[in-house]
Amino acid sequence: MARPLIADIDLDALRHNYRLACSLAPDSRAVAVLKADGYGHGAVACARALEDLAPAFAVACIEEAVTLREAGIATPIVLLEGIFEASELEQVEALGLWMAVHSDWQLEALLARRPARPIPVWLKVDSGMHRLGFPPEAAEAAWRRLAAAPDHACDLQLMSHFATADLVDTGYFNRQMERLRALAEGLEAPLCLANSPATLARPEAAGAWHRPGVMLYGSDPLEAASVESQRLAPVMTLRSAIIAVRELPAGEPVGYGGRWITPRPSRIGVVACGYGDGYDRHAVDGTPVLVAGQRAAVAGKVSMDMMTVDITDVPEADIGSEVVLWGRAANGELLGVDEVARHCDTISYTLLTGVLPRVPRRYHGGHCS
Ligand SMILES: *Cc1c(COP(=O)(O)O)cnc(C)c1O
Repeated sequence: MARPLIADIDLDALRHNYRLACSLAPDSRAVAVLKADGYGHGAVACARALEDLAPAFAVACIEEAVTLREAGIATPIVLLEGIFEASELEQVEALGLWMAVHSDWQLEALLARRPARPIPVWLKVDSGMHRLGFPPEAAEAAWRRLAAAPDHACDLQLMSHFATADLVDTGYFNRQMERLRALAEGLEAPLCLANSPATLARPEAAGAWHRPGVMLYGSDPLEAASVESQRLAPVMTLRSAIIAVRELPAGEPVGYGGRWITPRPSRIGVVACGYGDGYDRHAVDGTPVLVAGQRAAVAGKVSMDMMTVDITDVPEADIGSEVVLWGRAANGELLGVDEVARHCDTISYTLLTGVLPRVPRRYHGGHCS
C-alpha cells in the first residue's frame, strides 16, 4: 500500500468559484490569479480547467508564465509584478504576456525598447498599500507617458491593490477608493482593483478587471463571512489515513516534548501527514481534523512525516480510517482550511501554498460543462 497522503483537487469547484467571482462583479472581467503554482493546487491543471471561462490569467513572475505557456496555455497572462530585470522584456514579447509597471525603472526599460507589437500594460499605483506602485502624484505623469507611446504599450489599465478589503472596518478601504477615483477621473483610465476580499465584500469597486485569487480555491478571506463567501466551494481536500493506533492510560505524554498529556484513558491515531508535507507545525492541540468523517483533534506536536490525533471519541476509527486535514470527507463532512489556519495562527494562503511537492495531487472534474 502506498502512503495514503494525497491532495484531491476538485476542478469543478474551481470553476464554480470562478463563476461566482464573475457573477459578483458582472460588469468587470475576472483575471484568474494562478501564482504560486495555483496557490498550491497546480497552476497548469487549474489553467486548463479555467481556459474556456477566463479571459486572462495572472502570475507573479515570468518563470510561472513560462510553465503555463510550455503546457500549451495560450490565454493572455499578466505579470502582476512586471519584470524583475530589463532583459525579461524580450520574453514578455515572445510569450505574448501582459505586464504590470510599478516603478520608474520598469517604465524606462519599456520605453527604451521598441517591441514588434505593443505590450498590454497595467500601470500600478500605490493608493495606500505602500508596497508596489507609483505614488498617486507620479502615476499621472507615468500614465501620460505610456499613453503617448502606443508602439510600446497598449490596453492601459490603472491597477491598485487594497490593504484592508478583508476587514469589517471599511475606513481605510474607502480612503484608497477615493484616491483611485480622483486619479482615474482625471485620466479616464479603466481600473483594475479588486482582489478576492474586495470582490466578495465590495464588488462595486471591482473596476474594469478584478483579480480573484484565494477565493477561486474556495477559501474565504473575509474577517466576517458573508452570504456570498459562504457560497464558495473548497477545491483542495488534503486527505490521509490512520497508520497506527495507541491505547494509553491517563497522564501519558504524546509526541515530541510531551506537549499533550492524555487527560483520560485515550486512543491516539497516528496520521501519515507532517510538516514535511506542508502541514503547519504551529498547529496547536485541539486543531480540528476529520477522522472517518467526524471531528477529532490534533494531540501533540506535529512531526515531519506524522502527526497524532485524539480519537477517543471516534470509537470506529482504526488503522486505515480516512483522515481529512482540510476539505471534504467521504461522508460529505466539511472542514474549512480557514478554520484550520486559525488554529495555526496563520491564514489559508500559507497552508494551501505550503503543501509540498511530495504530496501527490489528484485531479477530478474540470471538463468544460
Ligand atoms: C495575489 C494577488 C491578488 C490575488 O489576491 P487574493 O487575496 O488571493 O485574491 C490580486 N492582486 C495582486 C496584485 C496580487 O499580488
